[in-house]
Amino acid sequence: MTRPTWDQRIARAGELAEIFPFATEVLGFYAGVARYQKALYGYIQQARSKSPLPGHSFGDSLDLVLLLPRFPGFLKVVREAAPAPLSALAEQMASEKEPRWEKLLRDFWQRSSELPYTESFFARAFLQPYAEFVADRLGEPPRTGNSATCPICDSEPVVGVLREEQLGAKRTFICSLCANEWEFPRLVCPGCGEDRNNALAVYTSEFFEHVRVEACDTCKSYLKAVDLTKYGLAIPVVDELASLPLTLWAQEHGYTKLQPNLMAV
Ligand SMILES: [Zn+2]
Ligand SMILES: [Zn+2]
Repeated sequence: MTRPTWDQRIARAGELAEIFPFATEVLGFYAGVARYQKALYGYIQQARSKSPLPGHSFGDSLDLVLLLPRFPGFLKVVREAAPAPLSALAEQMASEKEPRWEKLLRDFWQRSSELPYTESFFARAFLQPYAEFVADRLGEPPRTGNSATCPICDSEPVVGVLREEQLGAKRTFICSLCANEWEFPRLVCPGCGEDRNNALAVYTSEFFEHVRVEACDTCKSYLKAVDLTKYGLAIPVVDELASLPLTLWAQEHGYTKLQPNLMAV
């Protein structure tokens, strides 16, 4: 599996923040979270590289004995770097202690209950490094049909990617949790399976020639796609975050994002 390193993601956030002042706040916070994630990934690798995963499938591989002691450090990062409402919630969570954190992380990982967005933010951002580590160890199972969710962890895609292929471009999705990337037909809505051309809308903005909104008029969902044939140095997950005007356009036109990104925009 190829995915950008943490350093590449952090560097791209810095580059984009200089080009797009309106995205400075969201990218600055993202970079702070990504620096924490990089350190956590290093810790997980060191602690777990020689021992087997606790389970045989993604769902039963969560190692909370390893991870829980790190959660307060993550809450501190969010408290110090996040915008006010999220920062206050981090402070409140820090006072709630282990049984509550354990339940949150387990519910999120096993997808056993629908969590409010703010709570899933904490779980997703904290668990992403571990999810990437587990995805690497498990590898991708054999493909069966076209899945709109991640073949490894069953999470929704957070962004699409377009790459050159012999006849046009092919589309892949990047997982919102484990960062796995998988192929999905280019002209099919991942929300509802719609494939009629006149129900699928594409919107681009002059600010972001390499990012587009791909929306569906049948289920009113959308996802952005980063077109690497137009700008090969983009880091899709980070460029997606920076393209706030496209998010506004989609919202104003009544589309709902299939999966909010890490920063909930
Ligand atoms: Zn995944
Ligand atoms: Zn649809």
